[in-house]
Amino acid sequence: METKAIATRPHCLVLSFPGQGHINPMIQFSKLLVHEGVKITLATTCFYSKTLQNVPPYISLESISDGFHNGGLGEAGTFKAYLDRFCQVGPPTLVDLIEKLAKLGNPTDCIIYDSVAPWALDVAKRFGIVGASYFTQNMAVNSIYYHVKLGKIKVPLIENEISLPSMPKLQLCDMPSFFHNCDDEDLAMLGLVVGQFSNVDKADWVLCNSFYELDKEVTDWTTKIWPKFRTIGPNIPSVFLDKRIKDDEDYGAAAFKSEEECMEWLHNKPNRSVVYASFGSLVPLDEEQMREIAYGLRDSNHYFLWVVRTSEEIKLPKDFAKKSEKGLVVTWCSQLKVLAHESVACFVTHCGWNSTLETLSLGVPTIVVPQWSDQITNAKYMVDVWKVGIRVPIDEKKIVKSEALRDCIQEMMECEKGKQMKNNAMQWKSLVLRSVSDGGGSSYENIMEFVNSLFTCSQLLQEVIS
Ligand code: UDP
Repeated sequence: METKAIATRPHCLVLSFPGQGHINPMIQFSKLLVHEGVKITLATTCFYSKTLQNVPPYISLESISDGFHNGGLGEAGTFKAYLDRFCQVGPPTLVDLIEKLAKLGNPTDCIIYDSVAPWALDVAKRFGIVGASYFTQNMAVNSIYYHVKLGKIKVPLIENEISLPSMPKLQLCDMPSFFHNCDDEDLAMLGLVVGQFSNVDKADWVLCNSFYELDKEVTDWTTKIWPKFRTIGPNIPSVFLDKRIKDDEDYGAAAFKSEEECMEWLHNKPNRSVVYASFGSLVPLDEEQMREIAYGLRDSNHYFLWVVRTSEEIKLPKDFAKKSEKGLVVTWCSQLKVLAHESVACFVTHCGWNSTLETLSLGVPTIVVPQWSDQITNAKYMVDVWKVGIRVPIDEKKIVKSEALRDCIQEMMECEKGKQMKNNAMQWKSLVLRSVSDGGGSSYENIMEFVNSLFTCSQLLQEVIS
């Protein structure tokens, strides 16, 4: 990539939690900073860093420890065991990394840390380094967790309706999954997401992968609490937005390998004729749910492209063909290329935050099938606030039945409602483009403000040293 030639380039250490939904936006934000002349070292855990393919050469990759070098979360067995150990060994190994970089003549000016690793801010402060917390979730979801931290929302929830500042009223069923189930694993995850706010008041910057126009009220409310809160997204490859970074068509940090044959398959389909379905990188579906989705897609009688990760393939019904006249199942794809393809009409999505931003950025309407965590609240926003999605009803066992999915697909593909959703999605697409454009776009301006502060800070440091 072309980088601005500058004598003193500030150096940011970007620390990402090991997960596709975290590293994708953080590497993308890193690329934008490199484009503006900032040096970037990207760090994640040892095991996870070894699985990453195609990290761009202008970003150096380093690692810290989570205590599980042979299998990460899989080796730990539970989130609780994983998070407990990570919090113990993460901070000292981050200290080692900062010291190592300094010895190599590459001192760190700023740590941009994943907000779920708030201990990184304590490390930054110990070294007198600027600390920027980077939130990878929806602002409304952040606000929910912040109110748990303040003690204004109790877990388990007793109210049926939750009213928070600058947000629509939420029903219990719209809240993240940790408010519905409260086993040890859910509580560990809730601890992680509420912990994002443990020391955020001390952060020099609070950055969020979203854009102002998407949720002006919550952004304004949040900025009153943290004056250095800025929306800097959507952080997705440039080719799908303003094309500022040449040839930037991939996040460049995939832990899975894309099956490129699906692009060929899409090329041979009519415009807006294909239903794309994916449940992201993490969530497992149980066998019954997998069967219902499979038959729902098949019975819709529309073309479909479905991502079923290798670890999930075993749950596909025995009589279900991975390749048929109407459908294709792949283990992974380049989701952005698929969403941008003219053959794709809609997205059956689990509503992970990155998938949500990607579909809004590309103007693709959705059929929402949230499963876990923040996905449930994102789905509520897609359907009722941003009006780009149709919700598939669930049965008493919380299963999406095949008939329900089939009917929603047909409504999206064949009825007036589908056209309205498409129009709404296209309007969001143009707002996204405006927010990242260098003609005064909200996210663009925020990024430049952050970059300028990095340059000022690094120059001041140089002056002190010399
Ligand atoms: N993704 C992809 N190919 C796939 C499925 C997903 O590239 O076949 C990417 C997707 O574009 C997104 C990320 O994986 O950037 C998933 O993140 P998200 O927050 O949507 O869900 P999570 O995986 O965290 O549940």
